[in-house]
Amino acid sequence: IIIAEQVYKSFGSNQVLAGINFEVAAGEVAVVIGPSGSGKSTFLRCLNALETIDSGRIRVSGSDVGYDYRDDKFYEWSSKDYAKFRLGIGMVFQRFNLFNNMNALENVACGPIKVKGMPKKEAKERAQALLEMVGLGTHGHKFPNQLSGGQQQRVAIARSLAMDPSVMLFDEPTSGLDPELVDEVLEVMKTLALGGMTMVVVTHEIGFAREVGDSLTFVDGGVVVEKGDPRTVIANPQSPRTQQFLSKVL
Ligand code: ATP
Ligand code: MG
Repeated sequence: IIIAEQVYKSFGSNQVLAGINFEVAAGEVAVVIGPSGSGKSTFLRCLNALETIDSGRIRVSGSDVGYDYRDDKFYEWSSKDYAKFRLGIGMVFQRFNLFNNMNALENVACGPIKVKGMPKKEAKERAQALLEMVGLGTHGHKFPNQLSGGQQQRVAIARSLAMDPSVMLFDEPTSGLDPELVDEVLEVMKTLALGGMTMVVVTHEIGFAREVGDSLTFVDGGVVVEKGDPRTVIANPQSPRTQQFLSKVL
């Protein structure tokens, strides 16, 4: 469902992505690890077209990101095309990015109401079901500042899901949390994975990678250094750089 080929991206003279190749099939969970500054966040932002790439190709669900072919002609996406594309991709960040002036239920319901024109009643019913799915069925009336970090992150996940994305991208979703709150968020992500959601997860939670991941990709210096079955890569990393990195996070 996602194919990235030879993706390059620089900021000024800083080459951040130096020919990334990466693939995720529908229903797969791809875990990405790598040192700080290796380009993980930038790569995720390229996948949902928050950044444009300098060269290479990214395809999602069979279409090229940024381009269309119609009647044998080549069209660059308009800002409308980009906006429509992004609606199909959920993104969860390290910081929860909830709207502080809305309660949890409203946070989850507002996207479908504002962007998709869903009737309020229906959107709120769906939001309630999503809050129940993330274990917060009785917390809908609470505002973000009345929720723990783990609860806020689960609301953020529910909010992304409310838009019915075909892919969910997670950028270190638990690294801003107190250790005792990490598991409740990972549990929700695991439930999502078991439900068949296609997910790309940047995380240093190696246990999650081992248990839930279909693949584990180690990125360094803007390239994929190693990719494989998580258990194999963790137990028996081929590249010395992967070995060195894993020895620090395990
Ligand atoms: P971390 O583990 O710390 O989150 P990362 O692997 O996610 O690191 P990126 O955030 O992708 O790394 O950053 C890679 C490089 O790109 C860094 O050198 C960063 O300073 C640079 N960079 C990222 N975004 C921008 C931007 N918008 N403008 C300029 N430089 C940027
Ligand atoms: Mg990052």
